[in-house]
Amino acid sequence: MTRKQFLAAAATLPLAGAAVKLNAINKFIDGLNSTNNMPVLFLGHGSPMNAIEDNEFVQGFKNVSKEIEKPTAILVISAHWETKGTFVTAMENPTTIHDFGGFPQELFDVQYPAPGSPELATAVKQLVSSKDVHLDDKWGLDHGAWSVVKHLYPNADVPIIQMSIDYSMAPADHYALAKELSALRKKGVLIIGSGNNVHNLRMVSWKHLNTVGFAFDWANEANEKMKEYILDRNHKPLIDFQNQGTAFQMAIPTPEHYLPMIYALALQDKNEDLQIFNDAAVAGALTMTSFKIG
Ligand code: ZN
Repeated sequence: MTRKQFLAAAATLPLAGAAVKLNAINKFIDGLNSTNNMPVLFLGHGSPMNAIEDNEFVQGFKNVSKEIEKPTAILVISAHWETKGTFVTAMENPTTIHDFGGFPQELFDVQYPAPGSPELATAVKQLVSSKDVHLDDKWGLDHGAWSVVKHLYPNADVPIIQMSIDYSMAPADHYALAKELSALRKKGVLIIGSGNNVHNLRMVSWKHLNTVGFAFDWANEANEKMKEYILDRNHKPLIDFQNQGTAFQMAIPTPEHYLPMIYALALQDKNEDLQIFNDAAVAGALTMTSFKIG
């Protein structure tokens, strides 16, 4: 091969790659009807006990599902799946993972047998161009996903996959990555971030463990400030949460419960409505603040 031939051949490679990518996306996605933008949810999941209790938060989850057309599939970014690199669950039947200890047997007995969607997992892998998304066959559904989704779709009849949180990525890169998923919204895929915007288990008041509405000053301040930014569509300080002062530092001692909110916010289109619900604190150091976009 001459140098000229080599260059000519090399020049076609990116194009060929793009075509392959498009085909892979289309194979699954083309089979789905185009829809209006599916809403996006951020759900404050709080205690795993919410999976089996009936309380105001559970009611909030149930109510919001009634406002949403039944999705073709669900993609959850859960606080409870952190990895090096980004993974999507790609098994046919994800297991229900009971990733906690010290709770009643009744909670360990919960199964959420919704099917997976290897096709959607592959589509996500192809859709994301900024980094390699790996297909996973070992995880399943952790409680960040099933403890809330079971209230939205109790019949477990909507295929569901999870996408992991790469702990080595900067917050702005999570925000950018989330934007790459936006095409799925037009194909009826419900994207859910599941975490808590204020989540400091070390500071939880055991005395007020079940007291709804009790918040330490810093928790209240952080939650109010976050809501203000969210409602103003001012995402910059929310992405730059590490430099927002003491209240934010107390509210976000580690980022895993906060970042799912960043994924949800990144998917908000210009002029798209956002409704906050379940906006209440629990045990002083945790807020259940949730929202629906679109
Ligand atoms: Zn959690």
